[in-house]
Amino acid sequence: MNDTAQISRDAAQEFTAALRAAGAQFMAGRYDDALSEARILYAAVHGQPARLAQVSLLATKTCWNAKRAAEGVEWADRAIDAANLAGDETLEAEAWALKGACHALAEEAALAVQCLDRAVRKLAPSMPLEIQRTALTAVGLSYQYLSLFATALPPLRRSYEIDREKMSGEGMLRAGVNLAFALVEALEIEIDAAAEDHAALTEESLQLIEAMDRRMPPSPSDQLFYATHDATARLLLSCGQPVKARQRLQACMDRGTEKRPVNLVSWHIDLAYIDWLQANTSSAAMHATAARSLLSTFDATPRTTAELRRRARLAVVEGNAAETLDWMRRLHARVVKHEHAMLEARAAEFNVLESAQAMRLELADLRRQREGLHAQFRALEQMSRTDALTGMLNRRALESEFLFLRERGLHLVLFDLDHFKQINDRFGHAVGDVVLREVGRLMAEALRGIDRAARYGGEELSVLIVGANDAGALEAVERLRQRIENHNWNDVDPELRLTVSGGVTLVSKGESFESAVARADAALYRAKNEGRNRIVQMNLADPQE
Ligand code: GH3
Ligand code: MG
Ligand code: MG
Repeated sequence: MNDTAQISRDAAQEFTAALRAAGAQFMAGRYDDALSEARILYAAVHGQPARLAQVSLLATKTCWNAKRAAEGVEWADRAIDAANLAGDETLEAEAWALKGACHALAEEAALAVQCLDRAVRKLAPSMPLEIQRTALTAVGLSYQYLSLFATALPPLRRSYEIDREKMSGEGMLRAGVNLAFALVEALEIEIDAAAEDHAALTEESLQLIEAMDRRMPPSPSDQLFYATHDATARLLLSCGQPVKARQRLQACMDRGTEKRPVNLVSWHIDLAYIDWLQANTSSAAMHATAARSLLSTFDATPRTTAELRRRARLAVVEGNAAETLDWMRRLHARVVKHEHAMLEARAAEFNVLESAQAMRLELADLRRQREGLHAQFRALEQMSRTDALTGMLNRRALESEFLFLRERGLHLVLFDLDHFKQINDRFGHAVGDVVLREVGRLMAEALRGIDRAARYGGEELSVLIVGANDAGALEAVERLRQRIENHNWNDVDPELRLTVSGGVTLVSKGESFESAVARADAALYRAKNEGRNRIVQMNLADPQE
């Protein structure tokens, strides 16, 4: 062997070792160290494009993970130039993917889309699977981050498949977690889309969960345990299986190791939401309170659609329609902004590629995504005004209706079920719930379309009677009372009897909700004292107790 060959072999070994050392720093999360080693190495391999490309790529990846977007874009450009010079298509594809990822991180959606699309076009089935997988993951996660879900799914599916078939160990589970979150978004946003799409996505999701469960090691690391349980729980919830979702979230809560506040918040909110859906109002309130107090302990500004939706759900549980709407509007704005960016970025490319058909498909996808969002928007708004157990308006919605209808002349009524505690004690809480629900239904049935019935709280219900005089209002309320007294409860329990007491008051001009409620409550108190199963009216001019 001649000396020159020996020297170049030594140098190659040295380079590989140095690159591996920098890579190890990156893997260990020591991003500053990884970057400074990359900088030194970059200077050392001056004039050698293949090596320059490898070093630059590692630096790009590091910047992406360290959320240093601008610096990452610079390194990606170096990697692309060097890969080009070296004629290495594989490295170039990966560099485009990572450049796109850095642009996505900086919310530069149009630039990101151009790079990510380019990466996908450059990837070829003959390239090493490991690199395809890295690039596809970066592409998919970036589209996902930009809320372009229809576009995010295919690359994440592909990278999951590569991992499932070719790679070993936990890679499949990590790819599964990424795919799970993409499926959650697709399911949530396309909630009203074509039914068969939804069915296919659900089917795919359940298969994914099963495959991940099967691959789960017997004693997983904390990180793996939390990541997989969290992702599969979210997916089960989006597949309409709240009970199973709840078990997995609870398992995360119950695991006795350190948890990050961001995770705790999101578990509390999802638990609150699931409990709310199932009308477990006290448990829902408990989780909502826990989430609220955690939210104030760190910068919890929601950025992704998943985070925005979660905040909307917390507001739903709290019965706050205004806040729900506000979060949904932000979610919507985010999606629309990035949709436009993608369309613009692609319009430029498509002129060259003359793929009008592809463009049309893309538009159809986006339109569907938008429709799904609108549906979700309306559904959540509706839910945040609704009491979970009875389906009546909740207290907040009652207040907003009060303000909305006040100028038309209002009577406010507070009803309280008589001796309801005894009904619970004698027939059980579940029967108590059925009774509450049935009373709500009776009221809704008996009222005119313009009047409103709400659950004020516990076993207290409230009614707004619009545009009636005192006699008319009293007559309507008395009719409600009799209807409940005479109701046949045989279907529930033949022994069951129920009466209600009520307080009515005329709302005076410009009066606050609290003030009107206080007077109706005083009237109700008198009705209870005078022997229950009766209505008492008390107006502003009347003497109070
Ligand atoms: P009173 O005639 O004086 O109103 O007697 P009461 O027993 O109805 O009054 P009290 O305030 O002592 O009890 C109210 C009961 O209502 C106690 C509580 O457990 C029950 N309750 C409140 N909310 C719910 C609910 O969502 N479901 C069921 N089943 N019971 C409820
Ligand atoms: Mg009460
Ligand atoms: Mg009562």
